[in-house]
Amino acid sequence: MSDLSNPKSWLLYALLACSLALNVVMLLNRTPSDEANEAPAVSAEIETAPAGTGAVTAAAAPDSAEDAAAQPAAAQPEPDSSPIAGWAILHAKVEQSLARTFQLAAGEDGDALASVFTRLFVWDLDLRRDMQAGDSVAVVWRKGADGLPEIAAGSLQSKRLGRTLTAYRWQAPDDRFPSFWHLDGTEAPLRLRDSPIENYEQITSLLKDRPTHKGMDFKTPVGTEVSAPLAGTVTRANWNWSANGNCVEIRYDDGVIAKFLHLSENRVAEGQRVSAGQLIALSGNTGHTTAPHLHYQLDRNDKTVDPLEYHGTLRRALKADQIAALQRDVADFERALDAPAG
Ligand SMILES: [Zn+2]
Repeated sequence: MSDLSNPKSWLLYALLACSLALNVVMLLNRTPSDEANEAPAVSAEIETAPAGTGAVTAAAAPDSAEDAAAQPAAAQPEPDSSPIAGWAILHAKVEQSLARTFQLAAGEDGDALASVFTRLFVWDLDLRRDMQAGDSVAVVWRKGADGLPEIAAGSLQSKRLGRTLTAYRWQAPDDRFPSFWHLDGTEAPLRLRDSPIENYEQITSLLKDRPTHKGMDFKTPVGTEVSAPLAGTVTRANWNWSANGNCVEIRYDDGVIAKFLHLSENRVAEGQRVSAGQLIALSGNTGHTTAPHLHYQLDRNDKTVDPLEYHGTLRRALKADQIAALQRDVADFERALDAPAG
């Protein structure tokens, strides 16, 4: 190893840092932030929208286009100033919107960071409507191997709620993926009752996020089990493959039509009866999609229904010993969020 007191070593480190930064920039240019967080299955919704609704034009434009165009060239985060190795800490007052706030605070990573951050608190607050001047955010984050932001902890001080929401990334012992948890041991994201999928990393899109997107997206690796939330009859399979990929449509017994898109494998055939909880498919990344996920969509009389309202939601809670482990594991991040802006 080279000696840090040697000026030549510093030059080497500086060059290395520059080339790393350049790589990250190139990576981001190759993978626009709206792809990973929002792009899944856009054209599937075009295909399944009723004719003549104008959904084609609307859906073709990413809804972050406006924000992206106005994006300023702000400074990069400075991980070196962080007391937690490898993690950047950001404190900011909310400016206009969360997207704008993160654009100003995190530059070119702002849009992607805002998307990930939004997923922590969208369950408790309408982040488009309820943000107020004087609200503030804090986040501990870093750029993941894929160039996209990873959040370890986030907080949102909300005047509307009159309190501060916080969430910490942590993997419960029985879970296949980390999730986000409040310090009291309740999970930050809500879960769907009778969910078509139990094991997923994250819900990346809700109906209320984007008016042009007609379903919920569950980010999950290819091959994850998908089951029928309710009893019904398989009405279609693998229609409009170029957009939907392998797909299954089930008419629940109450007449609601459920669509499961981008599957790797179908396990049911048209006309087949399925019972609630029955395995119907494995999730995938087929059709028009940019990342492995399950698109789950409900329609009643050709009108889109929000799965959160239709199925209802639940909020998981950890057991006492797990809460103690959570609090111990995230203590450093808790201190980082609390530290005053500087
Ligand atoms: Zn989708």
